[in-house]
Amino acid sequence: MVEPVILSADILTQARLWRDDCLRRWNEAGQLPPPRIGEAIFTSPVDGSQRRVVLDLYPLILGGVRGKTRPGVLEADETETEGYTIALNASMINPALDSLLAIILHELTHALDPECDKDIQMQNPATGIRVILSSMQQYDLASERRAFSAMWTADLAQDILDGTYHDPDDAITRYCLRATEFAAFVQYTHHLHQERLEHFSKIVDALKSRGC
Ligand SMILES: [Zn+2]
Repeated sequence: MVEPVILSADILTQARLWRDDCLRRWNEAGQLPPPRIGEAIFTSPVDGSQRRVVLDLYPLILGGVRGKTRPGVLEADETETEGYTIALNASMINPALDSLLAIILHELTHALDPECDKDIQMQNPATGIRVILSSMQQYDLASERRAFSAMWTADLAQDILDGTYHDPDDAITRYCLRATEFAAFVQYTHHLHQERLEHFSKIVDALKSRGC
């Protein structure tokens, strides 16, 4: 089993601030260069490393995904510096309908997870020939399995506080209605269901033990 990533309270706080800033500046989404919503240094909950992450609001990302995370940061003077860039695909996100916080947390989990570094390296070998994975192969990556659970940490915290959290199965069923990507992941990965239940249980245990 792949262990879950347990996002810290500090990470959730920063993600909520970024969500609010995204909503406040959503009308800038079509501009070029893409507006930089935020930048922060995080402590990876996996290995304790310090990681710089920026969040940009893109008008369109080819490939039809709502968010993408890549190593490296493109600065205003077009130099590339160290860190990770989360690009939100504003053209595919409806902030009134989509769970923007879950989308941000999914990408932030990638940016803070060394397993994601390994998966990116595997897909971009030294030969220079990029490895293209099918959706099913993507779902099986450790970094995706971890991000698809960790993305719900803030929702789980809220449900616990509201008294609406019952059990992992119920939460997974309800969260499928909040994100089509998650619904597809759940639908096509029955073989990972037990692991998913364990991830949710461990995240809930961690949230309860720290008072959410
Ligand atoms: Zn992902």
